[in-house]
Amino acid sequence: MGFNLMSVGMMEERGAEVSVKGGKTIIKMNEKIAACGTRKSALYHLDMAPMSDVAAVASLQLLHERLGHVNVAGVRRMIYNKDIDGFKCFSMVVKDVCEPCVYGKAAMTPMPSAGGGRATKRLQLVHSDLGGPMSEPSRGCALYFCIFTDDFFRWTDVVLLQSKSDLLSDYKK
Ligand SMILES: [Zn+2]
Repeated sequence: MGFNLMSVGMMEERGAEVSVKGGKTIIKMNEKIAACGTRKSALYHLDMAPMSDVAAVASLQLLHERLGHVNVAGVRRMIYNKDIDGFKCFSMVVKDVCEPCVYGKAAMTPMPSAGGGRATKRLQLVHSDLGGPMSEPSRGCALYFCIFTDDFFRWTDVVLLQSKSDLLSDYKK
């Protein structure tokens, strides 16, 4: 069986306090004991209960959530078929309304049309689309870009912006 090594230096960098005494180690985070270990030959092994002793107890709802809100019927079938080793289900009750599921299944309403028809004169209607921030700034240190399209001429211009707040002043130009 493989194992993972933990570096005391890295734990210290992350704010842990590691003490070693009498063949035992104690790892504290924020003054609270996070883990204990016992020395075996030259290495300290974290004291952990074997997985078989850890009761995987949960409800159908919790398993549904932990599996990323997959189909409840499928999760129920997994429990009935005992597909998950050592899993004990204490409740087969699911929420009437699972909020993330409702949001996930919701369809967006279509964008309303802009009153139909095209503009009849120049600058009557200007479409704009702001993009960014880009991961790399341009040579002029711009992180954003905006595309303006005149609805009448279909003339399009792209402007580069250092910040979103520059958009209005550029629009007025
Ligand atoms: Zn859900």
